[in-house]
Amino acid sequence: MENPIDFIKRPVAIVGVGLSGEAAKRLLTRNGVKATDLCTFDDKPGAADYHDPAAMLAARKPATLVVSPGYPLAKDWIQDFREQGGMITSELALALYFITDERIIGVTGSVGKSTTVSVLEAAMKKFSPDSFLGGNIGTPLADYVVQLQERKRNRAPWVVLELSSYQLENCGSLHCEFSAVTHLTANHMERYSSLAEYYDTKWELVKRTAKATVLNRHGGDLLKYAKGKKEDAQLLWTDQNDEELESLHLEQAKLLGSHNQDNLAVAAKIAREAGWPAEAFEGMKEFPGLPHRMENLGERGGVRFVNDSKATTMESVKTAALGLYDQMDRKQQLFLLLGGKDKNLPWEELNELKKIQKLRPVFFGAVGERAKQGSGFEGPVFAKLGEAIASLRASAQRGDTVLLSPGGTSLDEFKNFEERGRYFTELVSKTFPRL
Ligand code: ADP
Repeated sequence: MENPIDFIKRPVAIVGVGLSGEAAKRLLTRNGVKATDLCTFDDKPGAADYHDPAAMLAARKPATLVVSPGYPLAKDWIQDFREQGGMITSELALALYFITDERIIGVTGSVGKSTTVSVLEAAMKKFSPDSFLGGNIGTPLADYVVQLQERKRNRAPWVVLELSSYQLENCGSLHCEFSAVTHLTANHMERYSSLAEYYDTKWELVKRTAKATVLNRHGGDLLKYAKGKKEDAQLLWTDQNDEELESLHLEQAKLLGSHNQDNLAVAAKIAREAGWPAEAFEGMKEFPGLPHRMENLGERGGVRFVNDSKATTMESVKTAALGLYDQMDRKQQLFLLLGGKDKNLPWEELNELKKIQKLRPVFFGAVGERAKQGSGFEGPVFAKLGEAIASLRASAQRGDTVLLSPGGTSLDEFKNFEERGRYFTELVSKTFPRL
């Protein structure tokens, strides 16, 4: 049988050697592109066969560039290459040539992508274990294809793709049955000349959707941006008075935070449009959150613990704390563990958290004292995260919530935010045995 990518002109150069570039290489090699017809390029010296574009072009004379999402298409040498008739494609675009019966759901947005697609994954695993989640999260689509070809997996009835704006700039024949835009806000502006250009890039997904696109009504600039837009696909907003959604009782979900209620609503609306069975919604409600991002560790002795170790911006600390507060009884205390290593953070922005009636900040780590002064909040300061956790034994009461959403990086005590999150999880389970 003819190979779907036989028409790709050789030699081929892979530009950018991250996860996506590596996957593209595997896909091309598996599908008949000879090693002599393939080279890699990366700006970072030593990361690939070439790091100087002129040297690569002269030595290998590629006819096709497979450009990774992390590498700007706007670079002069890429634009010149295109103008001279060279073919430009991507790992995603190549992989899509091998997609046959899979029904695709694409999700994009400035924030909320990973959470929403993970909720969708938890849902579809309940009724369709062969389904696949990938793209910008986890496994690149090209690796899904290689796994299929190597008979290491079955064809997925449903494919959920997390799509960044960079991927949408260079997504070949991408066509989704359903899609979602979670949120629009200024982000990655170093790669776009205007906010409109960035939002238009995200909107490309909607244009490539056959049946329905779900839009988050609380998605930042999305409401304003999408006003008056008409697309072939139906545009469906998550609404407050959606009885069918209400009947699902998403407020009982393990996933915490009012912003995550929005992500759940988006996922549930897609699932409903797609005709997924009842167990899908159970899967959504059981999803505890991605590790270290508002991860619900459950209740211990009546105190709820939440691991948001990944939060190293004031914006994410605020989203986490206010999102939890929205769902809390006003009488309950919210212990917020703030600290870590500083990177000149504007701690004064935490002022907004003043509206949390029973906020109990607890400071720790190298930045503890500075965080306290900057934020203007009262609270104890500890040298180490462990001491801060131990102090909660005397102060946290049944019904309260403890949130690690530190703001500072982990590097004063830990290798990375994952290690800090694991330490928090383990110490909490030791310090607060389940009653
Ligand atoms: P992405 O994959 O788009 O980066 P994530 O789902 O990993 O998004 O969420 C990243 C952060 O964005 C979260 O920790 C939270 O602070 C914020 N966030 C997520 N979803 C929303 C939302 N619906 N509205 C506002 N902020 C959100």
